[in-house]
Amino acid sequence: MSLLSLPLLDRAPFAARFEHVLTHTDISTLQINIGRLCNIACNHCHIESSPARNGPQDNMDEPTARRVVEWALRHDMIRTIDFTGGSPEMNPNYRWMVEAFAAAGRHVMTRCNPTLIGHTRRGGAEEYSWVPSFYARHTLEVIASMPCYLEENVDHQRGHGAYNASIKGLLALNACGYGRKPELRLNLVYNPIGPSLPPAQDPLEAEYKRELKRRFGIEFNQLWTITNMPISRWRHELEREGRLEAYMEQLIDAFNAATLEGLMCRHQINVGPDGRVYDCDFNLALNLRSPGLERAYLWDTSLGDWLGRSIGTADHCYGCTAGAGSSCGGALV
Ligand code: SF4
Ligand code: SF4
Repeated sequence: MSLLSLPLLDRAPFAARFEHVLTHTDISTLQINIGRLCNIACNHCHIESSPARNGPQDNMDEPTARRVVEWALRHDMIRTIDFTGGSPEMNPNYRWMVEAFAAAGRHVMTRCNPTLIGHTRRGGAEEYSWVPSFYARHTLEVIASMPCYLEENVDHQRGHGAYNASIKGLLALNACGYGRKPELRLNLVYNPIGPSLPPAQDPLEAEYKRELKRRFGIEFNQLWTITNMPISRWRHELEREGRLEAYMEQLIDAFNAATLEGLMCRHQINVGPDGRVYDCDFNLALNLRSPGLERAYLWDTSLGDWLGRSIGTADHCYGCTAGAGSSCGGALV
């Protein structure tokens, strides 16, 4: 559906409303999408990760990883490194990259799918049991996806067995001190099961804390609510079910101008598995390149190229500006 076809003036395409308005104001974070390989295939995954995405075109190789690390360490303004994927731990370059950033004193965040830690392979081996202690050794901030505290909802979105594996993974993180020691922060991420906006973040956090503690003794720091973006697998599902137009209208009608200032794209650079640059991970998923940097690799740019530069936008951006807003760090207002 094109927003151009919608009759109301305020349902204009996002890019038409905000071209030249949305610019990079400061750059403090480099988000590294290290690859699309994941041990599961969630039905809302914007990057369409799965166990089958194991080819070289989908995952960062060592020469690219070295150039990315070298670039980031040359730029002191980049204080935070945010690893995402896929499941970043499945990339063989992940560990030495984390070690390099941690040794240089950068704040490292890692987007974790806790089923990876809790998953038991045939024969009982836990291939990724090294993950929690590795995180703790380098004091990573862990952002673990946990779309609900109820088994039925998690398994619906992530596949049979995902809930139990997630619980096991979160317990392993708690056992290493995550969510318990002040320096080992564990934040969980909620996203709606269906085509609706996330509920208010604070009351939902209280509910998660109460239920996960009562059922399993699990502790964590914050819950971040994230809106499902109308792209990739989730978009295809909505299209198949004839619900895309209604979802888009819901996002547009909930537009909240107060979210614009805090949009994550204003403060970060996203680099994909091949070293090309984007304004955010959603734009990477859509291959929507940063305006003026369409052919650039990270190492072709300097921070001066980014500051004040317009951000590439399209209608999916209404997902970030609806209601309380949505970003890699949860609600914006
Ligand atoms: S765990 Fe994350 S990266 Fe993996 S398929 Fe699910 S949403 Fe995608
Ligand atoms: S999808 Fe969100 S973060 Fe990405 S460019 Fe649009 S508004 Fe910014």
